Amino acid sequence: MADIDALTSSAYSQALEVIASVEPRIADATRKELADQRGSLKLIASENYASPAVLLTMGTWFSDKYAEGTVGHRFYAGCQNVDTVEALAAEHARELFGAEYAYAQPHSGIDANLVAFWSILAHRVEGPWLEKAGSKNINELTDADWESLRHELGNQRLLGMSLDAGGHLTHGFRPNISGKMFHQQQYGTDPETGLLDYDAVAAKAREFKPLILVAGYSAYPRRVNFAKMREIADEVGATLMVDMAHFAGLVAGKVFTGDEDPVPHAHVVTTTTHKSLRGPRGGMVLATEEYASSVDRGCPMVLGGPLSHVMAAKAVALAEARQPSFQAYAQKVADNAKSLAEGFLKRDARLVTGGTDNHLVLLDVSGFGLTGRQAESALLDAGVVTNRNSIPSDPNGAWYTSGIRLGTPALTTRGFGHDEFDQVAELIVHVLQNTQPGTTKAGGPSKASYALGDGIADKVKDASAEMLDKHPLYPGLVLS
Ligand SMILES: *Cc1c(COP(=O)(O)O)cnc(C)c1O
Repeated sequence: MADIDALTSSAYSQALEVIASVEPRIADATRKELADQRGSLKLIASENYASPAVLLTMGTWFSDKYAEGTVGHRFYAGCQNVDTVEALAAEHARELFGAEYAYAQPHSGIDANLVAFWSILAHRVEGPWLEKAGSKNINELTDADWESLRHELGNQRLLGMSLDAGGHLTHGFRPNISGKMFHQQQYGTDPETGLLDYDAVAAKAREFKPLILVAGYSAYPRRVNFAKMREIADEVGATLMVDMAHFAGLVAGKVFTGDEDPVPHAHVVTTTTHKSLRGPRGGMVLATEEYASSVDRGCPMVLGGPLSHVMAAKAVALAEARQPSFQAYAQKVADNAKSLAEGFLKRDARLVTGGTDNHLVLLDVSGFGLTGRQAESALLDAGVVTNRNSIPSDPNGAWYTSGIRLGTPALTTRGFGHDEFDQVAELIVHVLQNTQPGTTKAGGPSKASYALGDGIADKVKDASAEMLDKHPLYPGLVLS
């Protein structure tokens, strides 16, 4: 390993010199970003630290190649090496997740969802329409045919989890394109328990009869039973699409198995590759054979040319995730989330659903007399990086919010364990107990301004620094 560390250190040191020879301010910002990431408690549930191998893979001449199309069927010449890269990324993804088909091109999680939506529309609506019209060739349709087909494509229904229950804005939230291209309805969580109520989802599905049922979340601190979601989808003739962007690492690491593993139950699964999966910034679609050919149309139907350098890094990250050490990592991510939740509960803080069984906790900060916005800002002053998040039926809306979302994937990568996460809970509670909400100019309560008690930020930063020094980020990486 020492060799790899030395190679990584010299590779980055030299690369930064090359960059500095053109635009030194970018080299400086890059060095500073490493120092900042090393020096802060990163609890953003959607972030992680990819390995130097993954990061280095992104900095190559694969970036220069156009490769629209699919492996072996490109719209450009000279794609033989991109073919190798994309085929390997897809193979690792299929093997890792036990998927029938994998599509490694999406540039991000949202792009993966757009590919999934259009592939489901193509498979379920456009294909049957063309067959019924007796023509397989879209170029031969009359203008009247076109109008009819567009009407069909534009009048489909999607049922997803609401944003304030923890769903993602691409799951049918009205202001998002997903809420505009579909007639949409949303399911929430039980107002008492904060948990998904499958009977309520089923009742809504029976009434609404969606073409697409979306499961998956960004801020729900519990596991989902995907076998039940599939039963609901089957009963109403819906395609089950699972967006595992947040928890793909727990699926890859075999923490979520059986009914909690979306891959055997969903028709189409979308994901990011940079969150708990710990790969490069990007997306992917997994699908059953039935949907493979329509997903393959993702580029250029929805996506611009593939980022071949990022697909190469996806292949490297997926190869890492197939190592036994990744399963140990994923289990630690879940164990640490439990430690963090227990740390809050024993200090009388309130958590949405009363705990966690995945990689994140949702802290309700209203008990501290604060909005999410105030809590997020005060924590940042103390070097604790989190993000505010709405809680179910949030009285402060989606901008100020009443919650703070905290995740364990990043600090678990650094080696934090039970004791550190208990201390993280203590530090967060300490900051929030010592933060006073501010007032507006008119003298009313402010949702944004706040005052953090004297000396608190420094005290918390010192305590964090001790933990961060004990668990350095990229320990072998030394820049000259
Ligand atoms: C993060 C996230 C996305 C979006 O991913 P991007 O890469 O930022 O586009 C989509 N869906 C869910 C559930 C997410 O958590």
